[in-house]
Amino acid sequence: MEIREDIVVGTHIWVADPELAFIDGIVINIKGEEAEIQTSDDKTVVANLSKIYPKDIETPDGGVDDMTKLSYLHEPAVLHNLAMRYENNEIYTYTGNILIAVNPFQGLPNLYDTHMMEKYKGAPFGELSPHVFAVADVAHRAMVNEGKSNSILVSGESGSGKTETTKMLMRYLAYLGGYAAAEGHSVEQQVLEGSSRCSEIMGQALENAIDSNPVLEAFGNAKTVKNNNSSRFGKFVEIQFDKHGRISGAAIRTYLLERSRVCQISDPERNYHCFYLLCAAPPEEIEKYKLGNPKSFHYLNQSNCYELVGVNDANEYLATRRAMDIVGISKTEQDAIFRVVAAILHLGNIDFAKGEEDSSVVKDDESKFHLNMTAELLMCDPQALEDALCKRVMIAAEEVIKRSLDPLGATVSRDGLAKTIYSRLFDWLVDKINDSIGQDPHSKSLIGVLDIYGFESFKTNSFEQFCINFTNEKLQQHFNQHVFKMEQNEYTEEEIDWSYIEFIDNQDILDLIEKKPGGIIALLDEACMFPKSTHETFSQKLYQTFKDHKRFIKPKLARSEFTIVHYAGEVQYQSDQFLDKNKDYVVAEHQHLLSASNCSFVAGLFPPLTEETTKTSKFSSIGSRFKLQLQQLMDTLNSTEPHYIRCVKPNTVLKPAIFEKTNVMQQLRSGGVLEAIRIKCAGYPTHKTFIEFLHRFGILAPETIKGNYEEKVACKWILEKMDLRGYQIGKQKIFLRAGQMAELDARRARI
Ligand code: ATP
Ligand code: MG
Repeated sequence: MEIREDIVVGTHIWVADPELAFIDGIVINIKGEEAEIQTSDDKTVVANLSKIYPKDIETPDGGVDDMTKLSYLHEPAVLHNLAMRYENNEIYTYTGNILIAVNPFQGLPNLYDTHMMEKYKGAPFGELSPHVFAVADVAHRAMVNEGKSNSILVSGESGSGKTETTKMLMRYLAYLGGYAAAEGHSVEQQVLEGSSRCSEIMGQALENAIDSNPVLEAFGNAKTVKNNNSSRFGKFVEIQFDKHGRISGAAIRTYLLERSRVCQISDPERNYHCFYLLCAAPPEEIEKYKLGNPKSFHYLNQSNCYELVGVNDANEYLATRRAMDIVGISKTEQDAIFRVVAAILHLGNIDFAKGEEDSSVVKDDESKFHLNMTAELLMCDPQALEDALCKRVMIAAEEVIKRSLDPLGATVSRDGLAKTIYSRLFDWLVDKINDSIGQDPHSKSLIGVLDIYGFESFKTNSFEQFCINFTNEKLQQHFNQHVFKMEQNEYTEEEIDWSYIEFIDNQDILDLIEKKPGGIIALLDEACMFPKSTHETFSQKLYQTFKDHKRFIKPKLARSEFTIVHYAGEVQYQSDQFLDKNKDYVVAEHQHLLSASNCSFVAGLFPPLTEETTKTSKFSSIGSRFKLQLQQLMDTLNSTEPHYIRCVKPNTVLKPAIFEKTNVMQQLRSGGVLEAIRIKCAGYPTHKTFIEFLHRFGILAPETIKGNYEEKVACKWILEKMDLRGYQIGKQKIFLRAGQMAELDARRARI
């Protein structure tokens, strides 16, 4: 039987509650391992002693701005602290040097104005209230002082506020980058001194990067169930600095745009914003592109949602055009971009009917109209477009045979073409923005800001979720290693022994996914290259290979589902579309059609393939390419000093002032905040200076107060008298093991 020194009759505690996650109460009776508890909502519950947590009644009402200041570091305390702060609109809280940001779902007055920026500039970390500016400031200062690159990793689930947080970080860095330049030197002076760039130009790169946001958002964001402006791609912004800490360039890297959304959406979601903006363009453009009501387009009308509350698409269209002007996209290019967007809408309206034998034909006059419109907008031959959609060329021996696709095959071909064009268009925009921002090849230090999709677990999870969760496993490993290192550093500084703290990591899950050969991605690639594979043979292969892997589960009766035990929980994946979604190849017919377009912009999206690639690139793996991209990202991050911001979505109704505790707890778990706390608890979660310790526990040994002992000696005396084990005494602080603080409090309460 477990004996708990820290819980006695009268102890204030937290106990699990199905609705509130935890509820507070007082122990009124203990029988064996069971405690009887009077909860704060006046109920009596019985719980096992191992399931209750002591509550610190000395925590101030408004909570503490750093979780590590909590006397008892455990889930209910962390959760309660966040909830109390959120109630007072204190949306930011530290956990050591991790910033937790709870989405306010409302503009908070003055939180991000220039005055705030001035205040945080140069202020020591932790001196002012927690804030994104404080994190950016620390990163910038560390970079200037140590000449080392820094990175800020923003994560959290959809709608938690990553993108908004990233914008604030960039704005603050632009402010610092410009300010540093102006400091002490007037612009004129810098020009006179022959300084290569003056302050107006400096920061301009980042200003451009910031201004590019509306463009990237118009083409890469969409309304989803979770967020009206959900980023459907990952983004790493690299801000380059010169040796004075002034901004000298910036680059944006993007990851894995969700392509399926272009042709497939479900109620009440929307397709990418740009389609709706274009449908709300001024009449002459609508006329030019033969657009009209979004309800008339198949790619948009699969969902009943067309409008966003509080957003005027017509204004957004003009704003996107202006943003394009600013980042240097010419009017001709802009016209071409929207022509391509319109073409995709028309393309989606081409339906097919059964032709002779197994062939297909364009269904009716309406479909013919859309076919002609698509061809006109893409500036290609309508007959060639029809052939490219309905036929495949087979090269057998010496012969070239044209094989017809049935209507279903032609529809798949159509959607494939739409997705390819759209993703090429998106990549073009990113490249163009990077050109216009300008890179600094001489920059030695950078600050990277990562805004990437958080852990996802839905009812059905496909290849996209697999890649997203893989990313999160990678980042989680990075995070754990970092948190662990930081803890160790503090122990080393205080010269205390930490050698027996165990480091648990998620390498086994990463091996399961990415090991070469033999990991899931490698097996998927193999399946994609083998013509006879189906999702069932692929799944069988997984079941066979990983039957003893403790991170892999074959669900009962499953034929093509598999479950991965991720660090943030189990996720069941449906493998039916894994093979298709992993294959990235442009159908040769589509390639020929568009590289021959009379529009140089369209042709430019499809540069001719070299002979070599035509031969070898039958299949290129999205999974493997993503893995490589991710490895490059990790290499970059590993060469930087990381800072973490964990965004939290307080409720699923996207409204202010509602804090759903169970939901938040789940996010803290999957975001690694609780893992960081676990790492802390594995070591010495309580760090108290000698004075703080004596202040609280002097009463346990009144003789130490009376006698004139040195503080360290007095602390040691108390700890020995209480017969605690395993604690450590550093140079200025006492380090207590998990639970020891509560134990001392319980002893104090008995006096
Ligand atoms: P996704 O993963 O879907 O892209 P996200 O984490 O990037 O989600 P955001 O788009 O940044 O989420 O935030 C969602 C919405 O929450 C914003 O549109 C805004 O309304 C609100 N919001 C987020 N952060 C803040 C903030 N700091 N202040 C005010 N409102 C905010
Ligand atoms: Mg986002």
